Amino acid sequence: MAVQFKSFDEWQKECKSKNLPLWQPVMDFEKKQKGRTEEEIWQGLIEAYKVMKDAVHTGLTEEMNSQSGLIQGGAKKVANNKIAVLTPEFQKLVARALAAKEVNSCMGRIVAAPTAGASGILPGVLVTLQEIHNLEDKEIMEALLVGAGVALILEQRASLAGSVGGCQAETGSAAAMGAAGISYCLGGTIEQTFNAVAITIQCMLGLVCDPVAGLVEVPCVVRNASAAAIANSSAQIALSDVSAVIPVDECVDALGEVGQSMEERYKETAMGGLAATKTGQAISKRVLIQDIEVLDDDTSNG
Ligand code: SF4
Repeated sequence: MAVQFKSFDEWQKECKSKNLPLWQPVMDFEKKQKGRTEEEIWQGLIEAYKVMKDAVHTGLTEEMNSQSGLIQGGAKKVANNKIAVLTPEFQKLVARALAAKEVNSCMGRIVAAPTAGASGILPGVLVTLQEIHNLEDKEIMEALLVGAGVALILEQRASLAGSVGGCQAETGSAAAMGAAGISYCLGGTIEQTFNAVAITIQCMLGLVCDPVAGLVEVPCVVRNASAAAIANSSAQIALSDVSAVIPVDECVDALGEVGQSMEERYKETAMGGLAATKTGQAISKRVLIQDIEVLDDDTSNG
């Protein structure tokens, strides 16, 4: 990908014709685009993964209370709950995705992969994947590159931002990146890996962006957990050779088309969906008053 692929089809053809692993053309593109060496890019990925792991750890060990009061240490409650709905691993997946996203909502350090609003999904998915399958860090770095390749195509053909394409574009893209990473790490073929992306998009399609009070907290934090779960279910389906039927590039185009036709109130304006509910509106008013009080305090202190 010294040139950027416009489609998954192009990416697949390049890898198959030259017998390349999926991550290699993405690495080549990153080298060219950023003017960095391969070593520097691996190092950047190692650092990014460390920030992801730190965010998971912070969210599970420190007090996570957002300024608005909407986020109050939910990840820790999930992690410490004696009831494991499926397996302890699933419980960890959910808790980790929540944890990293809570860190973002509490103004902590995260990796916006691909955006801050979706910053819990890859940490939840990759940390859990590595733990369960005892993967080397190098494999996770390769998965990050594969995920980056997915995001590059989604960005071109659809969008990665809730303000442009709704939450399907934001958490949906991160889930698609995660699903591709899982499939890649577990030995999936290129077809299976791209099928995992297609299935993920099909599951996330249509999700609106409706953050309460315009804060990236509710429903954003819980959506990071559900998107992490969907990434896993999609990879499981794809690795079992169950076809998405609609090819991945067409799924991406559907994501773009749905995003374009979505009303503005569902694109991070906090005017529709959950933000427009009675409770959402009351929270919005309360947060606004809090902000004015903070401003007043600052003015009188200054
Ligand atoms: S609801 Fe909007 S702001 Fe929240 S995670 Fe989804 S896209 Fe981002």
